[in-house]
Amino acid sequence: MKALDEILSFNEEFVHNKEYETFQTDKFPDKRMVILSCMDTRLVELLPKAMNIKNGDVKIIKTAGAIVSHPFGSVMRSILVAIYELNADEVFVIGHHDCGMSSVDGDRVVAKMKDRHIDPGTLSTLERSGINIKDWLRGFDNVKDSVANSVDIIRNHPLIPADVAIHGLVISPETGKLELVTSGYEA
Ligand SMILES: [Zn+2]
Repeated sequence: MKALDEILSFNEEFVHNKEYETFQTDKFPDKRMVILSCMDTRLVELLPKAMNIKNGDVKIIKTAGAIVSHPFGSVMRSILVAIYELNADEVFVIGHHDCGMSSVDGDRVVAKMKDRHIDPGTLSTLERSGINIKDWLRGFDNVKDSVANSVDIIRNHPLIPADVAIHGLVISPETGKLELVTSGYEA
């Protein structure tokens, strides 16, 4: 069975059996927190468990590498909406060790794009319009530096209120252990 069909058939049972009941809550984060973390598969359940977070507690934004790459991109917009519309007053940027974004090689990804029949002409058109694909795909060398950099972008954002604490942490994808990179209470 294909993934979509499998999911739809599971879902019918899930709803029919009212398995949603234990998850019911509202859209406001009870712990008034927004977390930006990585899409890594190992963190799907581990990160909330390791932070004592359950449904309804927090807003979670996930990207490859837990990176804020643009001050007016969708990640920053999500953080601002969480703060202004959903009453979050602390932001946690949580990168992790052994992150896939620390080893993304732009050249290799572009080669794979060509293998998957992306027209090289499309790539050069993008380059000519100022989009450097390899730079854009690039992750980071050091996760702590990357977390600190994303924290700086958020802290220095002109639309972030001064009373919102922005923290930076790194989590182990094996043990869930958190290491503090920077505390927003001291900033
Ligand atoms: Zn990652």
